[in-house]
Amino acid sequence: MYEHDVLVVGGGGAGLRAAIAAHEAGADVAIVSKLHPVRSHTGAAEGGINAALQAGDSWEDHAYDTMKGSDYLADAPAVETFAQTSPEEVIQLEHWGMPFSREEDGTVSQRPFGGLSFPRTTYAGAETGHHLLHTLYEQVVKRGIEVYQEWFVTRLAVTDEDDPAERTAHGIVAIDTKTGEVAGFKARNGVILATGGAGQAYDHTTNAVANTGDGISMAYRAGVPIEDMEMIQFHPTTLPSTGVLITEGVRGEGGRLFNRHGERFMFEYGYATNDGELASRDVVSRAELTEVNEGRGIEDEYVYLDMRHLGEERILDRLENIVHLAEDFEGVNALEQPMPVKPGQHYMMGGIETNENGETCIDGLYAAGECACVSLHGANRLGGNALPDLFVFGSRAGRHAAGEDLGEPMIQVGPDEDAERADVEWPVEPGEVEPTVSEPATDGGSADADAVVDDAVEAEREHIEDLLAREDGVKHMEIRKKVQQAMTQWVNVFREEEGIEKALEEIREARERYQDVYVADKSRTYNTDLQHTLETLAVLDVAESIAMGALARTEFRGAHWRAEHQERKDDEWIKHTMLSWNDGEPEMWYRPVLLKGKDTEYEPKERHY
Ligand SMILES: Cc1cc2nc3c(=O)[nH]c(=O)nc-3n(C[C@H](O)[C@H](O)[C@H](O)COP(=O)(O)OP(=O)(O)OC[C@H]3O[C@@H](n4cnc5c(N)ncnc54)[C@H](O)[C@@H]3O)c2cc1C
Repeated sequence: MYEHDVLVVGGGGAGLRAAIAAHEAGADVAIVSKLHPVRSHTGAAEGGINAALQAGDSWEDHAYDTMKGSDYLADAPAVETFAQTSPEEVIQLEHWGMPFSREEDGTVSQRPFGGLSFPRTTYAGAETGHHLLHTLYEQVVKRGIEVYQEWFVTRLAVTDEDDPAERTAHGIVAIDTKTGEVAGFKARNGVILATGGAGQAYDHTTNAVANTGDGISMAYRAGVPIEDMEMIQFHPTTLPSTGVLITEGVRGEGGRLFNRHGERFMFEYGYATNDGELASRDVVSRAELTEVNEGRGIEDEYVYLDMRHLGEERILDRLENIVHLAEDFEGVNALEQPMPVKPGQHYMMGGIETNENGETCIDGLYAAGECACVSLHGANRLGGNALPDLFVFGSRAGRHAAGEDLGEPMIQVGPDEDAERADVEWPVEPGEVEPTVSEPATDGGSADADAVVDDAVEAEREHIEDLLAREDGVKHMEIRKKVQQAMTQWVNVFREEEGIEKALEEIREARERYQDVYVADKSRTYNTDLQHTLETLAVLDVAESIAMGALARTEFRGAHWRAEHQERKDDEWIKHTMLSWNDGEPEMWYRPVLLKGKDTEYEPKERHY
């Protein structure tokens, strides 16, 4: 058994930042990641990082923009902590050597981004995430933080008290992808899940194949509530054939959207008469699809994004990567032609419920980054707000897990007996899969902690041997594809009751077929067949929770559009959708949104851009 004070699952931006913070707070910390850290999906981030750095800007304005962008589903204490801390995190990055783009006078450049009232997005060309990951990884190497790379974490080692809020996390179970070894890792202080998003629940996504929602599924099965899962961001500018992202930075620099008649439809058809292309992402995505649905799209599928007027010099200085992406993935020379774009799944606003310190309701279990929901982004994330989320809350989770006192959180976590329960008629019974907690229950002593980890390792070994022993059955890809297609068809930008119900039926059927899943590759070395089979279970959990939340929320808020419910219903729906899975059955309930921060109450207003 491996043993450290703090274990960080995931080596993306959130995981690396959490590990550095825990190390600086004096902990013996290790990162366990299924990919080498610099291959994490943070590396694909293009556009930038929001922070109120300049005179004329303020953290209060950043907080206000974030609350408005969230369509008043974000919790103000999280938003304020975020907006206040983001500048110091960006300055810290700069001191660690992050090669930010700069002005002539040497100051860090900032550009406009959608939904921002001030140009507060710092960037490094259109390769911000790549430089960010390398900057953070350098700091991890410099500090000698141990990295178990290409170790795939499959299970948490958590005690089995009836009430999840009384459970304790003692570690994790992981498979060494290189050898097939299944091993236990004990965490003396805490486990931080930083496993990223779950774009693989959809078939048209900007996310990497590794983004399967593993951490969300593991936390959910251990009894942690997951929050606002229906809130999925669809980015308006993805390349139609692959889902590869074209950064919002193109529109931030002045790029324009056109329909097949050459009209700048954002203005012409009144979707956003002030901000046009720089309205927030939910608004632009719906506008594009409306153009296509009303016959003004190109090839009934996409619209054009044009940056030619910016001129070659400016494009190559600030957006060179975009020229390569358009050429390599769509065969378009973006210096001379407009780029075809359409909305694609991009980001999860929801995730594992945490407070401002990254804590979940299970003692010693934390989450940070895209897999977590603190809740900062509510019903719609602003572009450039995800990366600072990784540093602000990654760092806080790392420090808290290492034992630092960060003060009393304002945000509550965990099951709530008195909470309002959801009243929904499900078209099929969801759930029905064993939760993963381990006997024996502990009294917190170290011997018992070892037993909890050993027990979880044993359960995982048995599970894997059972999978590998099967001689035939259903391939994971057949199951995964069906779910991805159902989600893209029915739980996309535009959602209707009947469609969401069909998606739930498909997911239910896929879950049943998963009982007969079969791994053809019996080897122990780099067995990606086995890994993808195990990941597919997470895809099922995530897809089902998104569809359940989407069916339950009978209003139109932020990214969640419902055909039958065309208005935001503030009297009824300023509340978070919570889904808990305990004893094999999911239960949906609600927690009120905190619209009051430390001193400010954010009053819900109609959003205009
Ligand atoms: C194409 C693209 C462009 C974007 N551009 C921007 C931008 O310009 N600005 C912005 O603010 N946001 C942007 N975003 C969003 C932002 O980049 C992501 O939300 C963020 O990088 C996620 O970071 P993370 O650390 O949470 O996850 P990731 O970077 O995805 O890292 C997850 C880590 O977890 C590990 N992992 C996962 N499962 C397991 C497991 N079972 N066992 C072990 N390890 C595991 C992986 O190996 C990986 O190391 C963009 C997103 C995309 C997809």
